[in-house]
Amino acid sequence: MSDATAPNNFLHNIIADDVAAGLHQNVVTRFPPEPNGYLHIGHAKSIVLNFSLAQAFKGQCNLRFDDTNPEKESQEYVDSIKRDVNWLGYDWAGEVRFTSDYFDQLHAWAVTLIEKGVAYVCDLSPEQAREYRGSLTSSGTNSPYRDRSVEENLELFERMRRGEFDEGSCALRAKIDMASPNMNLRDPILYRIKKVVHHHTGDKWCIYPSYDFAHGQSDAIEGITHSICTLEFADHRPLYDWFLTQLPVPAKPRQYEFGRLNLNYTVTSKRKLKALVDGNFVDGWDDPRMPTISGMRRRGVTPAALRKFCEMIGVTKSDGVVDVAMLEHAIRDDLDKNAPRAMCVLRPLKVTLTNLADNHEELISAPGHPHRDDLGERLFPFAQTVYIDRDDFRVEANKKYKRLVLGKRVRLRHAYVIEAEDYVADEQGNIVEVKARIIENTIGLDPEDGVKPKGVIQWVSATKHASFKVRLYDRLFNCESPDADDDYTVHLNPESLLELDGCVGEIGLAEAQVEHAYQFEREGYFCRDNSAAELVFNRTIGLRDVWENKA
Ligand code: ATP
Ligand code: MG
Repeated sequence: MSDATAPNNFLHNIIADDVAAGLHQNVVTRFPPEPNGYLHIGHAKSIVLNFSLAQAFKGQCNLRFDDTNPEKESQEYVDSIKRDVNWLGYDWAGEVRFTSDYFDQLHAWAVTLIEKGVAYVCDLSPEQAREYRGSLTSSGTNSPYRDRSVEENLELFERMRRGEFDEGSCALRAKIDMASPNMNLRDPILYRIKKVVHHHTGDKWCIYPSYDFAHGQSDAIEGITHSICTLEFADHRPLYDWFLTQLPVPAKPRQYEFGRLNLNYTVTSKRKLKALVDGNFVDGWDDPRMPTISGMRRRGVTPAALRKFCEMIGVTKSDGVVDVAMLEHAIRDDLDKNAPRAMCVLRPLKVTLTNLADNHEELISAPGHPHRDDLGERLFPFAQTVYIDRDDFRVEANKKYKRLVLGKRVRLRHAYVIEAEDYVADEQGNIVEVKARIIENTIGLDPEDGVKPKGVIQWVSATKHASFKVRLYDRLFNCESPDADDDYTVHLNPESLLELDGCVGEIGLAEAQVEHAYQFEREGYFCRDNSAAELVFNRTIGLRDVWENKA
C-alpha cells in the first residue's frame, strides 16, 4: 500500500511533529467530496494523501460527503464516489458520513451564534449583499439588518427554518467585520433558504448551511485532527478558526492546505467534466477518455498505477501543472510489470500456409509474461490459415521494413519462420491474401539453411480465435492547457477515439475479465470493456509515448 513517508510530503512532517509533541493520540483525516459529480484524477491525489497519511500514523481516515448543495447532488454520485475510493484501495473508518447527518447540531450552533450576538438574519437581496460586501480594494458596508436584537434574530431564523420566507429573501450571516481585508470575514453566510428536497434528508430542511459554516464544525464533530484541503481554501482558514473559537465544539481540528493537481492536456473540474457528459462530447462520466477515476478504471488503468503517480508528484504548497506524460509513464510501468501478454491482429490479412494440410492443428505455447512465471503459460493453435496485420506485408519494401515481404522471410512470433511466395489482390488492387510456406523446424530455432528472418510479427489462427472490436483511445484534448480558454471544447482531439471492428486475438481473450489489462504484443495495453454485451477491448495506452515529439 502507498507510503506517505515520502520526503516530498510536508504534511507528513507536520503530523509527525504534532504526534511527537503529544498533541494527538490518534491521527484522524477525512476525504470530503461533494456528491455533485464523479471523482477525477485530482481527487485521487487528495484520497491518496488523506488515506496514506492516516495509514502512516496508524490513524483513521473518514469519508464524508459534503452535501450542503442538494440541488446539484445525487445518490448516483454518492454511490460512484464510494466505489471509486474502494477501488483505489482504501477503506474509510466506520460508516460513510454525511455533513447532512450533522444538520441538527449545525442548526443548534447557528442558534448559539445568534444568542451570542454574533449572527443575524439579513434581508438584503443577493445582489445588494454583493454590493455591500465591497471589493478587494474597498471595504464593505454594514448591512442595515446587522443590529437586529437577539430575540428578533432567533424568531426570524426559526421562521426561515419553518419555510415562511422565499428563497433569496433572507439569510443568516455571521457578524464579524465588514472592513476585514479578508473577504471571507465580511459577515459570511451561515444559512440560506433552499426549498429543495435533499438526497439524504428528504424534505426535513429548507435551510442549508454554507460550506464554510458546515465544514470545520463537521471536522470537529468527527474529531478530525488534520483537515487537509486545497490552496484555494487558505483564505477561508481564519473563518474556519473563528467558528471553532466561537462555538462549544468537541475538538479543535486544524486546516492545512496543499497545491491541487493540475495536469496538462486535461481538464480537472467537475463542472467542466459534467458539461462534457451533458453535451454528449463523451460517452458518460466513465468514458475511457475522461480523467475520472471511473473512466480510467474502464480504460484499464490500475489502482496501483494511480497511487504510484500520486506519490511521484508529491505534495507541495504551491499549485503547478504536472505533465500528463508522468501519469502515462506510471500506467505503462505498472502494466508492463503486471499485464499478461497476448497476440492480436487489429487489421487482419489472411495468410495461407501452402505446405501445411488444411486440417493442420498444432498447439503453440508462450509465456503469460516474459518475466513473471506466476502468470503461467498460454496455449493457442497454429493452423494452415493464420491472420497477420495488413501493415505487416508488402510486395516490395526497403531494408528498414522488418516484416513480411514477397519472397522474404519473417518469424511468426512464438511459432514458425515463414516465407511469402505469392499474394492475391481484389479488383481494386487491395491485397486480400498472402500465400506462404513455413520453414520446418523453426519453432525456437533459426532456419537450417541459414537464411534468417528479418523480423518478428504477431499472428492469430484463422480457425480458432477470439473476435472483437477495439477502441483505440488517445488524449481527449490536443492542446496543453485546454482550460485556458472559455470554450475548452474547441480543443477536443478529433482523433481521441478510433473504433476498429473485425479484430482477432488469441483464443484465450474470449474469456478475458472486464477491466483486466493485457499487453497485446506490439500494439499496446488493452482491457475488456465493462459495458458491452459484445467483446470489446479498450486501449489503455500505447507501448510508447507518441506525443513526446508531436508536442
Ligand atoms: P472540482 O473543482 O472538480 O469541482 P472540488 O474541489 O469542488 O473539485 P470536492 O468534491 O469539493 O471537489 O473535493 C473533495 C476533495 O478533493 C477536496 O478536499 C478537494 O480539495 C480535493 N480536490 C479536488 N480537486 C482536486 C485537485 N485537482 N487536486 C487535489 N485535490 C483536489
Ligand atoms: Mg468543492
